[in-house]
Amino acid sequence: MMIRSYYLLKRARWWMEQARFFLFKRKLSQEDLTYLEKYFSFFNRLNPQHKKEFLEKLEMVLSTKKFIPRGGLLEVTVEMELLISATIAMVTFGWKRLRLAHFHTILVYPNAYYSTSNKTYHRGEVNPKFGLIVISWHCFVEGLLDENDGVNLGIHEIAHALKLANQIDTDGEKEFETQAWKTYKSLVPEEIAKVKSGENALFRENAALNEHEFFAVALENFFERPWEFFRARQELYLALVQLMKLDPRVWAKTEMN
Ligand SMILES: [Zn+2]
Repeated sequence: MMIRSYYLLKRARWWMEQARFFLFKRKLSQEDLTYLEKYFSFFNRLNPQHKKEFLEKLEMVLSTKKFIPRGGLLEVTVEMELLISATIAMVTFGWKRLRLAHFHTILVYPNAYYSTSNKTYHRGEVNPKFGLIVISWHCFVEGLLDENDGVNLGIHEIAHALKLANQIDTDGEKEFETQAWKTYKSLVPEEIAKVKSGENALFRENAALNEHEFFAVALENFFERPWEFFRARQELYLALVQLMKLDPRVWAKTEMN
């Protein structure tokens, strides 16, 4: 009974968000579009139809997430909201409605922040219990600036959120297809061993820590340097294409990317 009412409460929140989206939909301005074109290169590479779909998705994300400044940051600016939401829209672009509804609030710190829970500096994290995605703006921007190095904090944290969301039944759309998830998972142990042994030099060492870090680092590479990823680890890359319902090679500028 407890579980059922908890579930109903979650569903109610989803519908409330959905209502807010229809009633108070955040419309993107021309200024917003100019900003995206300048600083979010993924958007530029989409064809007109995909651009339209991407903007619809972006408006949905912007209309339903709450942004809160932390750690001395005075405000979360429109530009910060745009780029963080655009990253969510990009990572979940393979799904029509999926927007990681469970993670309703995004905390933005100016820099890496000290976490009292494990007494280390953090660049970002996700907290499924409170529905939070936490991001250091400085690290987020660093990730965006070099778009081909396979390091992108925004993609990394959103990948964590997506993997967790797959275990939480609250979103409006199912995340991973059972078969695609099985295929991907069956490859992970061997792939982690390859990062450890240096046979996969494309992924940074962090990927070998555990299956969660592996997934997050894999998605950073998937979106930032799909061709290199495809050539180095073809089977894993194609498993991710099935899982994520999209193939970023389509948007990569050249095969050399
Ligand atoms: Zn991580």
